Amino acid sequence: MAKGCFLSVVVPMYNEEEVIEVTYRRLKTVLDSLGETYEIVFVNDGSRDRTADIVRNLCATDSSVKLVEFSRNFGHQIAVTAGMDHSSGRTVVLIDADLQDPPELIADMVARWREGYDVVYGKRIERKGESAFKKLTAAMFYRLLRSMTSVNIPVDTGDFRLMDRKVCDALTSMRERSRFIRGMVSWAGFKQTSVDYVRDERFAGETKYPLRKMIKLSLDAMTSFSTKPLKIASVLGFVLSAIGFVYLFVVLYQHFFTHSTQQGWTSLVAISLLFHGITLSLLGVLGEYIGRTYEESKGRPLYLVSEAINFASIEDEPSRERDIVKVGERAYR
Ligand code: UDP
Ligand code: MG
Repeated sequence: MAKGCFLSVVVPMYNEEEVIEVTYRRLKTVLDSLGETYEIVFVNDGSRDRTADIVRNLCATDSSVKLVEFSRNFGHQIAVTAGMDHSSGRTVVLIDADLQDPPELIADMVARWREGYDVVYGKRIERKGESAFKKLTAAMFYRLLRSMTSVNIPVDTGDFRLMDRKVCDALTSMRERSRFIRGMVSWAGFKQTSVDYVRDERFAGETKYPLRKMIKLSLDAMTSFSTKPLKIASVLGFVLSAIGFVYLFVVLYQHFFTHSTQQGWTSLVAISLLFHGITLSLLGVLGEYIGRTYEESKGRPLYLVSEAINFASIEDEPSRERDIVKVGERAYR
């Protein structure tokens, strides 16, 4: 099942030893029932547990299983990107390793693709087993993002989706570092539709998305798809300096025509605190953008591969040469 299979399934993994074998088996059942050629591209995002060993064993017995091993943890969105880079299917499915996205839905997605859609994304009508905090922040985030950007990013969708090869190629041609794949798919356009599903509980283990990673993803999404925070910053700056300017006249009037300047102390401190706070937070907004511009300007590869199993080496496949990494004697994408 080497080149040009029908369906590639991309599975990013970070410390998923408890689930990965079950995930493999459930995927396999669904994929076999489709009666098409397929490959499962597992991307090991620097796991520190036995995840890679388990997949390596699967690779040895099943040539449709492929493993891309990162040199360290590069993050979920980058891992998904690497999986897409290494996929060869006519269609590509992105799915989490923890079985929160039901593999059985892939059959429905393929059916919609056959109807002529290029992107079929899963829309979560319910999220099971996730904390109220996560649900609330996620709901708020999707709606805030929607109001901030001109790209129409559907609410309540994750990365669980099927894409046509041309959409996958469009995405992998975008080499930006701050990646928010859902947004990039929306940006790409094409004919898109959704299938509803209930997001299950994690099969085992705990979330690999702590608050810190959630915040980073939201900031990446905001800064990649909206410059509104910058505009808000400048509008706010303008309005506040106008207020400050008017107040200057009040202060001068008080100084020259009244004897009440001593009393100004309170307002002075209040204003100083307010303005310092605002200035610092606006600097923070600028910093978020500048930092990302700096990261992009370095032009480093998005990830480094330490090992790639069950892939044809790059010499057999000269058409693709993105992110070539040499492993010993052989070069891999
Ligand atoms: N993941 C990854 N790298 C990371 C964090 C997560 O590849 O640094 C993978 C993880 O193994 C899983 C998917 O991304 O397959 C989604 O992570 P998780 O299920 O922990 O997120 P949640 O569903 O809780 O938002
Ligand atoms: Mg999960």
